[in-house]
Amino acid sequence: MFDVVIVGGGMVGASLALKFSQSGLKVALLEKTNPPQLSPQLSAVAPVDLRVSAVNRRSEQWLSELGAFQAIPPQRLCPYQRLQAFEATDGKVTGAELTFTAEEIKQPHLGHIIENNQIQAALWQQFPAELSVFCPATIVSLQQESNYASLQTQEFGEIRGRLLIAADGGTSQLRTLAGIGSNGWQYQQGCLVATVETEYAQQDITWQQFTEQGPRAFLPLPGAMGSLVWYDSQQRVKQLAALNRDELAQQIQQHFPEKLGKVKVLQQGWFPLTRMHANRYSAGRVVLVGDAAHTINPLAGQGVNLGFADAKVLAELVLAAMAAGEDPANSVLLAKYQQQRKNANLLMMSAMDGFYQLFNSTSPLFRFARKAGLTLAANAGPLKAWVGAYAAGLK
Ligand SMILES: Cc1cc2nc3c(=O)[nH]c(=O)nc-3n(C[C@H](O)[C@H](O)[C@H](O)COP(=O)(O)OP(=O)(O)OC[C@H]3O[C@@H](n4cnc5c(N)ncnc54)[C@H](O)[C@@H]3O)c2cc1C
Repeated sequence: MFDVVIVGGGMVGASLALKFSQSGLKVALLEKTNPPQLSPQLSAVAPVDLRVSAVNRRSEQWLSELGAFQAIPPQRLCPYQRLQAFEATDGKVTGAELTFTAEEIKQPHLGHIIENNQIQAALWQQFPAELSVFCPATIVSLQQESNYASLQTQEFGEIRGRLLIAADGGTSQLRTLAGIGSNGWQYQQGCLVATVETEYAQQDITWQQFTEQGPRAFLPLPGAMGSLVWYDSQQRVKQLAALNRDELAQQIQQHFPEKLGKVKVLQQGWFPLTRMHANRYSAGRVVLVGDAAHTINPLAGQGVNLGFADAKVLAELVLAAMAAGEDPANSVLLAKYQQQRKNANLLMMSAMDGFYQLFNSTSPLFRFARKAGLTLAANAGPLKAWVGAYAAGLK
């Protein structure tokens, strides 16, 4: 019997598997898809992953403690020192530009933009031999008993654990099997993501332009590259994603601000925008982390950062319980975990929704509030520094 069984070896699940295994627990990890490989150089076989994350300082620290941050090839890391938001119409900035800098909060940088597959691969590369990996695994059923829970799998038969962790993403099968409901909605908008080559050398700024059709963002990537995120109606986003690369580049030049410069599109795709929050974070011996517990509007790039924060809190509680000879799935521990994480996640999700409403409205009142808000924040000294530290995950 395993101490802990983790379902889902994405960024969040893999980090927990590694943490528990490094701490001497008997751990099983079940993943349905073969993991990506680390590759030091970008090449035709290892192109940039379309999915990238703005990993904040707190998440960096978590990955460093696990020895995974250091394993990501430096050529695939892009630190950013500045974070900027502004309103624009027809490519021209129309109000205050709000810029947070690492210098203002006395930090070397605010975070790194990293490809999701490189973070996941770096975590998998650190897995010790004692960690039992079942991959590819297909779960058939869950059974909960008084002192263990078991998963029936197609390929590996029954796997038993004292604590089962659902880290299997927004449509979590384990969450459903455990009977945990969720609430949320699909936003009317979708977002186009494009990896581009830029005319400028590597940049240290990530910016977000707010327009009445939705935000448009630039995230710098290593070398002369960037990741663009374009929010619009799902219909428009699907149309954009279906364009050929030259046509899409033309649309980007027309609708992104001039500061982007000339771009060449390397790849593109689109994502629906979903908000989902589990009604509770545990049931019996099953506990949820990361996107299995909450899927957030990617507006401020907080999804995986919240997931890593869940993982860290859960790891601390479980390791303390095990050290005291207690059941790692005891109800007091699981209630404590939910109490610490659910409100924090809800706060961030609601803040993102507030921003989303504010910046997607054409009402004159909202327009005034946005302008006033950006101007005020741009001149707000200590408050601004606090928000910068919060964005970096240091508050
Ligand atoms: C367009 C977009 C941009 C984003 N940008 C950012 C950003 O800048 N910063 C940020 O922090 N976040 C960002 N996010 C969110 C971020 O990608 C997610 O929060 C993050 O991937 C969640 O990680 P996870 O490990 O919880 O889940 P996932 O990444 O979904 O991983 C789940 C894993 O479980 C496996 N799995 C699924 N089902 C099963 C099963 N039944 N059995 C076994 N294994 C299973 C999957 O194969 C996968 O490996 C963005 C999201 C989107 C859509």
